[in-house]
Amino acid sequence: MARSIVRNLVTGGAGFLGSHLVDYLMQSGDEVICLDNYFTGTKKNIYKWINHPRFELIRHDVTEPIRLEADRIWHLACPASPVHYQFNPIKTAKTSFLGTYNMLGLARRLNARILLASTSEVYGDPEVHPQSEEYRGSVNPIGIRSCYDEGKRIAETLCFDYQRMHNTQIRVMRIFNTYGPRMLPNDGRVVSNFIVQALQGKSLTLYGDGSQTRSFCYVDDLIEGMVRFMNSDFTGPINIGNPDEFTILKLAELVRCAINPSLTIEMKKLPADDPLRRQPVINLAKQKLNWEPCISLETGLIKTIDYFKNVL
Ligand code: NAD
Ligand code: UDP
Repeated sequence: MARSIVRNLVTGGAGFLGSHLVDYLMQSGDEVICLDNYFTGTKKNIYKWINHPRFELIRHDVTEPIRLEADRIWHLACPASPVHYQFNPIKTAKTSFLGTYNMLGLARRLNARILLASTSEVYGDPEVHPQSEEYRGSVNPIGIRSCYDEGKRIAETLCFDYQRMHNTQIRVMRIFNTYGPRMLPNDGRVVSNFIVQALQGKSLTLYGDGSQTRSFCYVDDLIEGMVRFMNSDFTGPINIGNPDEFTILKLAELVRCAINPSLTIEMKKLPADDPLRRQPVINLAKQKLNWEPCISLETGLIKTIDYFKNVL
């Protein structure tokens, strides 16, 4: 018997992760409503689907309520780069709280399943390493990252309260640092910064001494994990990320070697509250979703560098 077409609402669908998700859903034959206010997203990312009969594009800000019909809500709308979420921190907090509140209200009315793109930032500057889902985190509630970290924490809280009070079908996904094609050249996150700087022959801006760590997941792996999670019976929270941990200095060296080994590294001040270490435990994703990432940082960097070579 033919599978019935699913109506997907993707908030933040014109952004980096959202547009890759839109591609995946369109290619699987489903309907997609892409909703975005274009703060950090761009129409270019989803241009190829405009005029497609299964695709609709809505310019809308998730801090305002909206009425439409969907079976599944993928709630990604929120700036993710520290540079962008700190540009207007009050707006970021509103987007996290009111945006998630509005989308949960919509999910409740429609009896739709809703996936929240939460973040490893809910663990803050972690005292426990690596981070599993049971760890409750160490977040500074009044720092420059709080609008985002605490915003996502209250967004998670709202999801679980909607589940407890209204039986809303929630999926809470904690995404660890993800990179790949369609990050903006001025995104401000480390992978795109280093690649763009190296391609332009500039020194790489290393914040602090570069001993802080992150674990980088290539976007295709991430989207596969996201789709498996939405299709599963598991509510979460669940970590989705690549457990291979690198210092930021090592990342700078990898990018420099791949593009131009003669480039220099310029040390800059470490921003306040910058987490020292970050690495996901992904046992839950392996067990519940039979998922683990398969693209190494070296391979993913080459794909991302190729993308930026075309863009710049
Ligand atoms: P992004 O900035 O590229 O995409 C965010 C999208 O949301 C953009 O298209 C932006 O215009 C849109 N948006 C922002 N505020 C909005 C609002 N008020 N109303 C409507 N649209 C709005 O970021 P991304 O990397 O694609 O991240 C997507 C989601 O995944 C975010 O929720 C982010 O917190 C989460 N996440 C991403 C990462 C990562 O490493 N990429 C890590 C953890 C969590
Ligand atoms: N970083 C850096 N140079 C840059 C941008 C970022 O050294 O040009 C560092 C940053 O201080 C942090 C790490 O790289 O320690 C990851 O930063 P990003 O903004 O990508 O993500 P997040 O801190 O939110 O994990």
